[in-house]
Amino acid sequence: MFAEVAVPVYVRQTFTYQIPSHLEPLARVGCRVTVSLGKKTLTGFIVDLVEALHSDEIEVRDIEEVLDDEPIIGPVILELTRWMSDYYYAPWGECLRAALPAGATTISERLIAITDAGRAELAHGTSGGAPETKLAALELLAGVETASARLLEREFSKQKAAAIIRSLEREGFIRTWQKAGEAGLKPRLENAVRRAGDTDGDGKPLNERQQRVMAELEKREPLGLSRLLELTGVSSSVVRTLERRGIVQVFSREVRRDPLAHLDTTNETGVSLTSDQAAALDQILERLSTGTYSTFLLHGVTGSGKTEIYIKSIRAALNLGKSALMLVPEISLTPIFSRRLRAEFSDTLAMIHSSLSEGERIDEWKRVKSGHARVVIGTRSAVFAPLENIGLIIVDEEHDTSYKQEESPRYNGRDTAIMRGHQVGAVVVLGSATPSVESYSNAQAGKYSLLKLEKRYGERALATVETVDMREVFKRHGKQQVLSDELKAAIAENHARGEQTLILLNRRGFSAFLLCRSCGLAVPCPNCDVTLTYHRYDSSLQCHYCGYIRPVPRTCDACDGQYIQYIGLGTEQLEARLTELYPAMRIARLDRDTARRRGSLEQIIMEFASGGIDLLVGTQMIAKGHDFPNVTLVGVVSIDAGLALPDFRASERTFQLLAQVAGRAGRGARPGRVLIQTYHPEHYSVQCARSQSYEEFYRREMEFRRAMSYPPFSVLINILVHHKQHETARELAEEVARHLREQAREHHLRVLGPAPAPLARLKGEHRVQILIKARSRSPAREALDIAMDRVIADGHSPRSIAIEVDPVNLM
Ligand code: ADP
Ligand code: ZN
Repeated sequence: MFAEVAVPVYVRQTFTYQIPSHLEPLARVGCRVTVSLGKKTLTGFIVDLVEALHSDEIEVRDIEEVLDDEPIIGPVILELTRWMSDYYYAPWGECLRAALPAGATTISERLIAITDAGRAELAHGTSGGAPETKLAALELLAGVETASARLLEREFSKQKAAAIIRSLEREGFIRTWQKAGEAGLKPRLENAVRRAGDTDGDGKPLNERQQRVMAELEKREPLGLSRLLELTGVSSSVVRTLERRGIVQVFSREVRRDPLAHLDTTNETGVSLTSDQAAALDQILERLSTGTYSTFLLHGVTGSGKTEIYIKSIRAALNLGKSALMLVPEISLTPIFSRRLRAEFSDTLAMIHSSLSEGERIDEWKRVKSGHARVVIGTRSAVFAPLENIGLIIVDEEHDTSYKQEESPRYNGRDTAIMRGHQVGAVVVLGSATPSVESYSNAQAGKYSLLKLEKRYGERALATVETVDMREVFKRHGKQQVLSDELKAAIAENHARGEQTLILLNRRGFSAFLLCRSCGLAVPCPNCDVTLTYHRYDSSLQCHYCGYIRPVPRTCDACDGQYIQYIGLGTEQLEARLTELYPAMRIARLDRDTARRRGSLEQIIMEFASGGIDLLVGTQMIAKGHDFPNVTLVGVVSIDAGLALPDFRASERTFQLLAQVAGRAGRGARPGRVLIQTYHPEHYSVQCARSQSYEEFYRREMEFRRAMSYPPFSVLINILVHHKQHETARELAEEVARHLREQAREHHLRVLGPAPAPLARLKGEHRVQILIKARSRSPAREALDIAMDRVIADGHSPRSIAIEVDPVNLM
C-alpha cells in the first residue's frame, strides 16, 4: 500500500510514501504521519491511499509513524482544504495544518526504548567499548519502558543528546519513533465529590458544617470540590473528614476548559422579532429546510438587529437536526455577545478564537469533533470546525478584513465559508451594514439573495453625521490642530449631559504619505490612481502597484502651498491630549497595544458598557459591532490617512469605517451625533458616510472600480518576491514577470511591476511585488501555474515567492 502525503512545505504537490505492513491497519486517509523529506522529518497528512504505483521507476520511502489512531481530518475538511490549496495556490499540507487547533499540531515527540541488544551492551559493555556517555544513556533508558527524548536532553545537552540518540540507534541499541505531541491534548482534571453508598458512615452524628456539605450534595452531585467549598463556605478538611469516615467519596474527573465558565447568564432572555426581522428570517428558514446550498447577503443598517436573526436561524438549524457555524471578526467576541450566546445555546455552543488558551481551544475543538457541540462561533479559523451535518453558516461583518489571513495559507475565511456551504449543501448568510463591494455586486448579479433591514430596531434614528473641514481649522489657527474647536465643544457638552463619547483615530497608513495642509492634496500616481508612498531613505514618492517613482516635491503640485507634511499621530498622544483637556473625565484607550494583554480588552469594554468610563479613545477596534446604548457622540480624528492609502480599497475601507463607527452612536433612547474631522469633506466616502447611503457609495465606488478595472471587474493575484539580497529578489521577480508577460495576451491578463512592495524591507528581506490583473480567474491561474513551473524548472526556490490570490490588502 502507498499513501499520498501532504506536507507543510513550500511545494504544492503531495508526495508518495510506502506504508510498511505493520502500519497498514493504522494508516487511513486523514491521519497524520511522520515522513522524511530530504534530510528532515516532517509531520504530514495522508490524503489518499493507493494500491499500486503507476510507474516503478521512482524510489519511494516508507512512512515512519502514524500519529493518530483515528483520522484527525474528516472528509469534509479534506475536501475543503483541497479546494483551498488549489484556489489560493497554497501547499495543501499548510492548509490542513491551518485547519487544526494550534495545540493539536505541536511538533510530535520523539520516544525512545532500549532494545535487547542495548540491554546486552549495558550488561557486558563489550562491542568495542561504547563510550561513557552512551552507557550512561543506556542506563537511563534501561530503567523505563519508553522515554521521551527529553529525558536524555535533560541529562546531557540538547545537541549532545541528539548525537547520542543517532549513534545508539544506528548501532541497534535503541529504537525511536515519533508520537503526536500530547502537550495540549491532556485533559484537565479536578477533584469532585459525591455521597458514598452508605451515608450513615460510622453512625456518629454530623456537625453543622458537615451537614451543610451533605445538604448541598443532596441537591446535586457529583459536585466539583472547589465549587462545593465555595457553596458551603467550609474548608477542604471538612470534606476530607467526611471522606475518611466513608460518608462521601472524592474522585478525580475530567473537566472541560470552558472559556465562558465565568459568565453569568441568568439575566438573558429571548426576544420576539420585529416584522422586518421576521420577514428576513422567514426567507432564510425556507432555504434552510430545503437542505441545499444558497447564499444570502443580509444588508442591515447598524442597530437593525441582525444578531437576533442569526440567533433565531441557528436555533432553527438545530431544530432541523443540523449544526451551525458562525464566523465573527476577532473583536466582536465581547463578553456581552458571548453571554447572550451562552444563554441561548448553553452547552451545545463551542467558541473558537485566538484569545483562548491552547488547552481551551483544544477542548472546544474536541467537543465539536465528538458531536457534543453543535453550534460553533469563532473567528477566521473556525471555518474549519469539524462539525458534521452543517445546515447553516453565518459570516457576520462579512466585509471585515480580519477574515483574510495574511500569512500562508493566505485564505479568506468568508470565501472559504461560502465554499464549505457549497460543498455540503448549507445555507450561507453574510451579514453587514456595509457589505464589501464584491459581495454586494454578487447580490446585484443574483448570485446571492439580498435581504434588507433598512431601519434601526425600535424606531431609533440613525445618528446625524457632520464633517469638520480641517483646512478651515488650519486657516483659522495657522497651524495644525489635532482636535477642532467643534469637536472639543461637543465632547464637553456631551459629558455635561452625562452621556458617553467614542473618539476614533484611524491609524492605518500612519505617516507614510505626503499631504498638503492647505489644499488637502495627497500626491497620486499618474497610472494607478492611488496615493504615492513616502520613502524616507531616498526622499522619494513611489507607487507600489506599478513602480512609478518621483522625488518629494517642495511645494504642492496643485496649489503651490508650502506646507507639505507627512501625517502621523498615535492613540497614546491623543489620549494624553484629551486627559489634559478634560481632567474631570474618565478616559480610557483601546488599541492593539492595550488589547494585547489577555482580558484587558474585555475589561475595558465591560467598564465602558457599565458607565465607568466617560470617553473611550481608540483605533478601528472601537468601531466594530459593539452595542453601547449610552454613547451619543462619536468623534473621528483624521480619516485622511486611510483615504490616501496606496490601496485601491482605500475609499471602501474609509466608508466602511465611518459608517460603522457612526453606527455606534445613538443606539439607545437618545439620538446620536457624529463629527468627522477631515481635509476631504468632498470625498465620496465621506459624503456617503454623512448621508449614510450605502447604495450611493456602492454606485460611486463601482464607477471607480470599473474605470480602473479593479475587482469585481477583474481578478487580482499578488506575487511577492522576498530575499535577503535585493538583487536576487529583483532578478527573480523580473523573471517571474517575464514568464507571466509571455502569456499576457493569450490569457487576457495584465502584469504590473515588478515594483518595490509597500513594505520594501521586512525582517531583513527585500520585497518586490508583481500584480496580475486578469479578466477572469482560471486563465490567470493557468498562466501562474505555467510561470511558476518555469521558474522552478530554472532552479529557483519557490520559498522566496509568496502568492496571494484575491489580496485584500496591498500594503
Ligand atoms: P446590528 O448587529 O444589526 O447592528 P444588533 O443586533 O446589535 O444590531 O441590535 C441592536 C440593538 O437592538 C441591540 O441592543 C438589540 O438587543 C436590540 N434588538 C434588536 N432586535 C430586537 C428585538 N427583536 N427585540 C428587542 N431588542 C432587539
Ligand atoms: Zn502606479
